[in-house]
Amino acid sequence: MKKNKQTMTLREAMRLNRRALGLIWRREPQTVLSQFLSVAWEALTPYVGIYLSARIIDELAGSADAQRLQTLVWISLAAAACIALVTALLKRWRETHSAGQWYKFEALLGEKMISMDYACMDDTATQDMLQTIRDNMNGGAWGITRVLYGYESLLRAVFTMLGGATLTVSLFASAVPRGSAYAWLNHPLAAAAVVALMLGLTLLAPLLTTKAEGYFAKYSGVHNLSNRLFGFYGFLGYDRRLAADMRVYRQDLLCDRYNRNKEDTFASNGLFAHLARGPMGLYAAAGAAVSVSFTGLAYAFVCLKAIAGAFGLGAVTQYVASITKVSGGLSGLLAALGDMRNNAAFLRLTFSYLDIPNEMYQGSLTVEKRSDRKYQVEFRDVSFRYPGSEQYALRHVNMRFEIGERMAVVGANGSGKTTFIKLLCRLYDPTEGEILLNGIDIRKYNYREYMDIFAVVFQDFRLFSLKLGENVACKVDYDPARVRGCLEKAGFGERLAELPEGTETYLYKDYRADGIEVSGGEAQKIAIARALYKDAPFIVLDEPTASLDPIAEAEIYEKFDAIAGDKTAIYISHRLSSCKFCDEILVFDAGAVIQQGTHEALLAQEGGKYAELWNAQAQYYTDK
Ligand code: ADP
Repeated sequence: MKKNKQTMTLREAMRLNRRALGLIWRREPQTVLSQFLSVAWEALTPYVGIYLSARIIDELAGSADAQRLQTLVWISLAAAACIALVTALLKRWRETHSAGQWYKFEALLGEKMISMDYACMDDTATQDMLQTIRDNMNGGAWGITRVLYGYESLLRAVFTMLGGATLTVSLFASAVPRGSAYAWLNHPLAAAAVVALMLGLTLLAPLLTTKAEGYFAKYSGVHNLSNRLFGFYGFLGYDRRLAADMRVYRQDLLCDRYNRNKEDTFASNGLFAHLARGPMGLYAAAGAAVSVSFTGLAYAFVCLKAIAGAFGLGAVTQYVASITKVSGGLSGLLAALGDMRNNAAFLRLTFSYLDIPNEMYQGSLTVEKRSDRKYQVEFRDVSFRYPGSEQYALRHVNMRFEIGERMAVVGANGSGKTTFIKLLCRLYDPTEGEILLNGIDIRKYNYREYMDIFAVVFQDFRLFSLKLGENVACKVDYDPARVRGCLEKAGFGERLAELPEGTETYLYKDYRADGIEVSGGEAQKIAIARALYKDAPFIVLDEPTASLDPIAEAEIYEKFDAIAGDKTAIYISHRLSSCKFCDEILVFDAGAVIQQGTHEALLAQEGGKYAELWNAQAQYYTDK
């Protein structure tokens, strides 16, 4: 059973909470301000009612002057009305800003993921870390989502204590008349004993409650697992992609699988139910019992003084109410500090994620913007292992090519073609060796500028359920004429002409009922249009056509060759026929470039890998 280690000082815990608050403040100052102001207001205003009610009771129990009573009632009503109005305004302000707060925190994590080095993002350890942070957030609202709540509780407690203390001071100052049997209540030691006892009970209650709450933090890992399983199994039925299979195979399997999940902490025989019946429940109950004892003690002390004649009936209600509130405030303060401490371990994890450094952004050299697009790229003895992998995906790759050329990268699946492109585009840095652009190590260039020179259509490119134009331009404000031009070049012109809303048409039906579905081939044309829109000097097609037959693929590649114009085009395929028109063909095998040359030259090398692959695949296209 995975437990959350909590060896952290209160000081460190508060430092993490402060840092988190600072982060939220910089992103959402109005949220913080509206939340804090409304909390302070809500904590202080009840005392106005307590004070005025006490004065009315005093007046009723005393001289009962009608004029004075009327004035007091009017003041009470006016105060109540003003307080209600301001409360409503503050609440509205607060709700406007706090709505969707969860998604803002999700966005914070997402932004970090987007800005992270690709290699780090792709690392399982990073993905696991993010998943744990999100599970903590969604399971027990631990982490950044809890920070404002903690400060809110802290503030509420402080203001409640301040207001209550102001109305309680006179309880101790009002003396029992001399000669009364209760005159001993005037003795400073009596007051001190009562205060000490009250303080003791006040401190004990939140300690017990925090101890009970601590079980949730301690077993968050178990809770998260259940949440994760529920998040997976519980929503499978909504997934349109699974709908057909589910019907054909009657996949009750999934529901049964979830129902039989022994780890389910939510079930009545689960871990938390077990804890609630055991120590966690006992601590919570003891906390509640201690709070009630406190109220009993407060009543006893105040009533004794009132019976002895220290003050009137109105004051009794005032003191009992305010003293209970002071105690509640102090308990709240300790509970808030306890909760913030419990949360600190989760914040530490969140910050270790947010603080992951960008190693790749270090370079500062400007990439020369050449109008002739003349660049030269060289791989110098490049070897590469994926993070956490023992096996080399690329081994001693040496190659050089001039821009403007058509280059093909061919080889069997898993031979390293995509990895080669990922290194070229600097999604990863080589483990050994270096890649040079115009003679300079690409790590020395400004990362963003370097990325600007590549447009890649990856094998697993993704289109979004957004407007067609936005999909092509990857921008909300796009140039419709340019988008149309690129779509036409990519072969999507005919379909585009049929769309009444043109480039404004939504793809898929996730957000709009009139969104269009596109076939695999059409999606690939849109992806190619996206690469054209970027207008980068390098354009790479990484088998985006894998679902097409070899002949259709070869046609697309040859057509693309015309579209690419003066750009340098790199084609990747495991189908040799697609790339035979290229000036230069690299043949990959088990991570190494084993042959390099034109189609004719490579085919002429008898016994070579290229000739072997070509002959093996020839059956697909010799007929044609
Ligand atoms: P190709 O594009 O020729 O099909 P890849 O470049 O995708 O081949 O893969 C080369 C090798 O690297 C394969 O053995 C593959 O399993 C491995 N590989 C690819 N991506 C990763 C990754 N993210 N982590 C670990 N290994 C990977």
